[in-house]
Amino acid sequence: MSGGHDVTRRALEVVRPSIRALTAYSLNRPAGEGEVVRLDFNEAPHDVPAELKAEVLRRLGERRWSHYPEFGSPRLARAIAARHGVEPEQVVVGNGSGELLLAAVSVFAGGGGTLLLAPPTFSLYQQMALLAGAEVATVPRRPPDFALEVEAFSARAADGERTVPLLCAPNNPTGNPASRDVVARIARESRVLLLDQAYVDFSDPGDDAIPLLPELPHLVVFRTLSKAFAAAGFRIGYALAHAELAREIRKAVLPFSVDLAAEELALALLERPEFSRGAVETVRVERERVRLALLSLGASVAPAGGNFLFFTIPGTGGAALFSELARRGVVVREPSPAAPDHIRVTVGTRSENDAFLRALEGCR
Ligand code: PMP
Repeated sequence: MSGGHDVTRRALEVVRPSIRALTAYSLNRPAGEGEVVRLDFNEAPHDVPAELKAEVLRRLGERRWSHYPEFGSPRLARAIAARHGVEPEQVVVGNGSGELLLAAVSVFAGGGGTLLLAPPTFSLYQQMALLAGAEVATVPRRPPDFALEVEAFSARAADGERTVPLLCAPNNPTGNPASRDVVARIARESRVLLLDQAYVDFSDPGDDAIPLLPELPHLVVFRTLSKAFAAAGFRIGYALAHAELAREIRKAVLPFSVDLAAEELALALLERPEFSRGAVETVRVERERVRLALLSLGASVAPAGGNFLFFTIPGTGGAALFSELARRGVVVREPSPAAPDHIRVTVGTRSENDAFLRALEGCR
């Protein structure tokens, strides 16, 4: 098609310069040969039980597929509110917690505010800030422990009218949990605190920050059913906040973002908390077993509150280890520039973890 290239180029010139400069988010999953063990996405090692799937499909079959779901998913909001002892008006449901994080970043920091991060942290936050038109400020975490620098983070959070701290706890990819005390200390210095607790089910029960909501009405907590509830394939997340903040966040979420199937699955999972509790306990036991094995291989391992471990083996580069493991059929998360010597590995089933440890020993 003659001239087609020029026309495309002219269209590309209309793309916002900050987006044009961005490297597209990519998840490098090496293909590998034969049987590949995937420990790269922090997915749950155990699937939703077959009888629960059958029940969800049965309920879904009874619903009218030609109609939109109920606006705002009120049944699901009520079930989530009951689980956490809050009011349904405090709940915002979304297509995974990622959608809600983007909404909140836009609402609070978008159009010229500043999003405060503690890297290495979830890489999508940076992209969300960019999409929302927010600046990014950082208070980095440092090896070997990658602990949050609470004083510096709080001080920076207090600095500026539109500074919005976004804390991930337990932090992806380093794993560090944050206690309620630490969350409360940071919140007291902040106008608003966004707290991503995607992995908190795997941490100490005392780290769940939701009980702080009544005393901290400027805290927004993000949760997901993708990890402890093994529902990543269906995209269900939620945010909890004071009803007035929840209303503002809802304005940035498109209607009907939780579809019928996701809603039925979420309701069924919340009715059976014992499934998630059992799966979480298994992950915690395996996490400790793998952690001890890593230590005995000479690794330095960061404090682990999620369903993954973050480690380095002195003298071994992260990129080399990543490729060596992949060559041996075990795919872990590709190291990031923020911590190039460190590897993040998801805690899998017992046999997947054994395969990982065997491959790691083979790399030495
Ligand atoms: N927050 C963190 C820290 C994550 O690691 C992830 C997914 N990997 C998410 C949020 C998004 O999860 P989802 O959209 O599946 O709820």
